[in-house]
Amino acid sequence: MVGSALALALQDSGLEVLLLDGSPLSVKPFDHQAAFEPRVSALSAASQRILERLGVWDGIAKRRSSPYTDMQVWDGSGTGEIHFSAASVHAEALGHIVENRVVQDALLDRLHDCDLGMLANARLEQMRRSGDDWLLTLADGRTLRAPLVIAADGANSAVRRLTGVATREWDYLHHAIVTSVRCAKPHQMTAWQRFTDNGPLAFLPLERDGQHDWCSIVWSTTPSEAERVMAMNDEAFCKALERAFEGRLGEVLNADPRLCVPLRQRHAKRYVAEGLALIGDAAHTIHPLAGQGVNLGFLDAAVLAEVLLQADARGERLADVKVLSRYERRRMPHNLALMAAMEGFERLFQADPLPVRWLRNTGLKMVEKMPEAKALFVREALGLTGDLPALAKP
Ligand SMILES: Cc1cc2nc3c(=O)[nH]c(=O)nc-3n(C[C@H](O)[C@H](O)[C@H](O)COP(=O)(O)OP(=O)(O)OC[C@H]3O[C@@H](n4cnc5c(N)ncnc54)[C@H](O)[C@@H]3O)c2cc1C
Repeated sequence: MVGSALALALQDSGLEVLLLDGSPLSVKPFDHQAAFEPRVSALSAASQRILERLGVWDGIAKRRSSPYTDMQVWDGSGTGEIHFSAASVHAEALGHIVENRVVQDALLDRLHDCDLGMLANARLEQMRRSGDDWLLTLADGRTLRAPLVIAADGANSAVRRLTGVATREWDYLHHAIVTSVRCAKPHQMTAWQRFTDNGPLAFLPLERDGQHDWCSIVWSTTPSEAERVMAMNDEAFCKALERAFEGRLGEVLNADPRLCVPLRQRHAKRYVAEGLALIGDAAHTIHPLAGQGVNLGFLDAAVLAEVLLQADARGERLADVKVLSRYERRRMPHNLALMAAMEGFERLFQADPLPVRWLRNTGLKMVEKMPEAKALFVREALGLTGDLPALAKP
């Protein structure tokens, strides 16, 4: 998703860009009746603006996307509860829940229409410096030479490993169970999040043919509990999920096949080196409770494109680490701040001692009564604050 967005942002630059990916880069015809893909992303307003300006949003809208207008968050072991609404900042929606496959296909449709180089089924296996360039070797033995490599190859980035970029990383000791479920009550276009004793449980609203009874769920829990839940049959799983969610949307009627993903936070100590830049999950992976991973990635792509285009206009050498550092300076503090906030949230809600529980429940109740503080949070979630690249500006 992030690499394709960057390639599109450079499409009219006159730069020679080659997008390579280990996958076939093919687009399947979209079936509106098809079951939901288990992997979805909550796209912020800032991501929507970037994708609109890259000519991708229409491709998402004509496939399937589910706007959500409200967010309800509560502490499962107390009485603290907080509600956010798009109406509080006069916005139409807080964001859209979109299947990752839909975002990828809409991006690929657009890429296939552009005059950009694309190399499918190109799995990178080796890379090393060769003079001022990188020499890349693919799994099928082909070699490529490039002065600048931008790694958007995800959380287990081969480029990051092969170039020896150090990371700071730790296990959340959480696994996320993801699937889609149908509930007895409509989701009310609300993203629901309950902090359970074992981790956050999110119900994200999905829409198909105007029906509002399906949700995408992300259930973060301890590895042993995840193993137990994954072993359940569908009926037992629906019952356990309904209990964990306090039945807020009534009975959980059906569930699609489940996926289980171990959660790990990673942050590259540097995003850039001579002739190298990391973007998206290759640079940082964050707990999904924030629903921010790919939103941070799209902002990385938009800022890096802006830095490269400005440097090119000034006749600067794009592979120069001094040029690339401008991207790092703009993105790293923002990404780190969000990761630290999520880490704090995660610890706060995992903590069991009575004073901490009292504090967080009192805190939630206090903030609930402070419309100004909530509006600030909503503006942040909408991606309306901070140092925005032109592609993301309202
Ligand atoms: C359970 C869960 C829920 C999430 N929910 C949200 C959410 O609500 N909102 C949100 O913003 N984010 C969410 N995220 C995070 C989001 O999914 C990621 O941030 C996003 O997928 C990262 O996109 P990317 O393009 O950087 O990397 P990826 O999507 O991982 O893409 C990497 C690309 O690199 C290619 N590649 C990899 N290795 C090689 C190689 N050696 N050679 C060639 N190509 C290669 C792959 O084929 C792929 O196309 C969630 C994550 C999880 C685990």
